[in-house]
Amino acid sequence: MEETLKILVVEENEVERVLLNLALRETGMTIELDEVKDSHQTLSALINNHYDCIFLDYHLRNQNCLTLIHKINSSAVKVPLVILINSGNEAIGGECIKAGASEYLIKSTLSSETIAQILRSAIRIHRIKMQLDIANQQLKKSHEQLIIKDKELATKQEHIEQQKIALLEISKLKSFFLASISHELRTPMNAIIGFSQILLRPKFGNLTNQQMDMVERILNNGKKLLMLVDEILDFSHIEAGKLELKPEIFDLSEVVSNTVKEIRSLAEAKNLSLLVKGDINNKLVFNDAVRLRQILMNLLSNAIKFTESGNIFVEIKEIHQNRVTIAVQDTGIGIANQDFKNIFAAFHQVDQGISRKYSGAGLGLAIVDSLVRMMGGKIYIESKLGVGSMFKIELPRKINLIADLGNVVSRTHQHHFHALCYHRKASINSPNLKL
Ligand code: ADP
Repeated sequence: MEETLKILVVEENEVERVLLNLALRETGMTIELDEVKDSHQTLSALINNHYDCIFLDYHLRNQNCLTLIHKINSSAVKVPLVILINSGNEAIGGECIKAGASEYLIKSTLSSETIAQILRSAIRIHRIKMQLDIANQQLKKSHEQLIIKDKELATKQEHIEQQKIALLEISKLKSFFLASISHELRTPMNAIIGFSQILLRPKFGNLTNQQMDMVERILNNGKKLLMLVDEILDFSHIEAGKLELKPEIFDLSEVVSNTVKEIRSLAEAKNLSLLVKGDINNKLVFNDAVRLRQILMNLLSNAIKFTESGNIFVEIKEIHQNRVTIAVQDTGIGIANQDFKNIFAAFHQVDQGISRKYSGAGLGLAIVDSLVRMMGGKIYIESKLGVGSMFKIELPRKINLIADLGNVVSRTHQHHFHALCYHRKASINSPNLKL
């Protein structure tokens, strides 16, 4: 059904009003018509009704049509205005359009066709304008909301930045505290170890068996404490970025077998067999031998600590001309899949309880992880609860000193055992050595 258009005609002259009325009716459009004679009546009609279009005579007596156009346009009422002018007054029509009218019509050319055409296009343009206005308002609103959100975000970001600075400050303090306290602890610990060793020397004098046993305990516990202090010191150096690798060329299998030799007594004390396998053609590597020993020591002491019976295997392999692997495998308690991601975090232990069975500060693997990263290597874990664990490190034969300390890049799960692969990237800057 055709839409009924509500039209307001503002015309003082009755004859012209009737003519316009007739022309409007002859358009064939469904029109509901209101008629008023002056601007006052126009404004009151607009308060009480909604119109689709207003036909407004420019020549209202004692009234300025332009002022009325301004009044209508600046009110809340939005309606298309068609101005009726006399022939020869086209310039006035132009002014009215500038003032905000939609169209003008020359009275002498009034016909139902032109009126229908003007009416349709004025209403259509007006409606498009209204839609544009609404869209613009919505855009403005969204823009304002965006500005508010932007401000909120900036405040939050500032807050996070401040927290970050505060946290960095705390972390620096912690590292400083750890470094200085462990440094201070080393001197008395070395005295305790040194003097107990002197006491145990046969030439020092005769100690009773009970006294010997007590001094040995002092010595062993002193060594344990010193190891812990050294771990904390190393960790604080790594955290502060102060630990540097000192690479040299050495025989990898020699370092592995010497480290195994050093720790063998611990395995024997628990009746664990400790076996080393390794068949690599080229035994030479360019790395930091002291730090490599430290990595192995940490992995081996964990393997011994977390194994009650069975074996510990150490295996060296050459997986590529430029890459070697060292695996430490045990038949110990194993690690659950969900704990893989945490065990490399500093001070983290699977059993965090106070009454836990296994001692340790939870720094061993954190140090291993950082050192392997510095060497440009990767760590793989395969483990199953109650079956055992295997920690395998893969290292470049020649380390480079600008290793990327990036984040964990990939993780893999392997058959039977759950596995985690820590991948560390390294940039190419190796010394030009034939190994
Ligand atoms: P610590 O040995 O001092 O507790 P680590 O950083 O060396 O600290 O190891 C972190 C945790 O990872 C250990 O507390 C233990 O829960 C687990 N873990 C490490 N190695 C093994 C292993 N070979 N077998 C079982 N669990 C292990």
